[in-house]
Amino acid sequence: MSRPLIARIHPAALQNNLAVARRHAGDARIMAVIKANGYGHGLRRAARALWDADGFAVMSLEEAGHLRDLGWDKPILLLEGMFDVAELAACEAQRVTLVVHHAEQIAMLEQAHPVSPFPVFLKLNSGMNRLGFKPQDFHASLARLTACVNVSEITLMSHFATADGAAGVSGQLEIIQAVFSDLDHPVSLANSAALLRYRATRRDWVRPGIMLYGASPFAGENAHALDLQPAMTLSSRIIAVQTLASGEALGYGASYIADRPMRVGVVACGYADGYPRHAGTGTPILVNGQRTRTLGRVSMDMLCADLTDIPGAGVGALVVLWGEGLPVEAVAAAAGTISYELLCAVAQRVPMSEG
Ligand code: PLP
Repeated sequence: MSRPLIARIHPAALQNNLAVARRHAGDARIMAVIKANGYGHGLRRAARALWDADGFAVMSLEEAGHLRDLGWDKPILLLEGMFDVAELAACEAQRVTLVVHHAEQIAMLEQAHPVSPFPVFLKLNSGMNRLGFKPQDFHASLARLTACVNVSEITLMSHFATADGAAGVSGQLEIIQAVFSDLDHPVSLANSAALLRYRATRRDWVRPGIMLYGASPFAGENAHALDLQPAMTLSSRIIAVQTLASGEALGYGASYIADRPMRVGVVACGYADGYPRHAGTGTPILVNGQRTRTLGRVSMDMLCADLTDIPGAGVGALVVLWGEGLPVEAVAAAAGTISYELLCAVAQRVPMSEG
């Protein structure tokens, strides 16, 4: 028997979540964000399930190449654009749409000699201060791109820093509207949180990521209430059971001390599989469908679950680390992180299947 840890990817959930995005997007086209190996779900698997999207957004040319190899013919948005002029030939070969966010990239496009011009998304820094042109530089950048023979359609884009939180989008949206108001180009603004919550951000292209994988972008608002279904279930089994007398310690660092007689299940899943080591005692976990908690430190290949109140669970009992029945957001919150990080961090050694 092989190690029982497995990540099951649910294509029907991905399709459901795309339909939810479509419902919110109205007439806007959907640029499904499938960078980072489809947020950890497998680039090809995610792409096949999300095939009805209108475009895919990726981070690397390699990802773009995999999508073209699959037969994807619609737009591919390269989110960080290109890094040097020599890359443009490969960008052309993969027919990518380039995000242009700094002046050197405009110079590269001006110097290039492509057979056909590139579609680009020109990025406005409306307050996130990560990528993009500041409002006062935006029109000049747009004028240069408009004059560049190597550029075809120009879409205007920006990205929200706080669409998922109390600050919302209004500050950035005001800046965006002021800069874009007299410009006649398609516009792309919304990530998942903006798409779900702020109708004014929908425009021509939306760029949902996390919601397609069935996780809520909002702390404290669960995905189920948004009609989203988890697209990954990480499951394993109990491989050993220990009984602890009151006062006995468990695992590395002896960090957990039993305060009564306890039954502990050892689960084949650890931080080398991508389970967060920061998930301390009390992180939710399902055993035989029943919610219980982890105990003690997560080790490289194993973690421990409290079976004291699940007397029927022994060696071989099914454990769900996250997914169906246990939102990944709940595990992330207990580990002081976000669902994105957990999904992206599932290790290569964890086998994946579909179903
Ligand atoms: N647009 C851009 C530019 C991004 O970098 C990302 C993700 O980081 C997204 C859209 C998708 O965001 P989310 O996964 O929160 O929907």
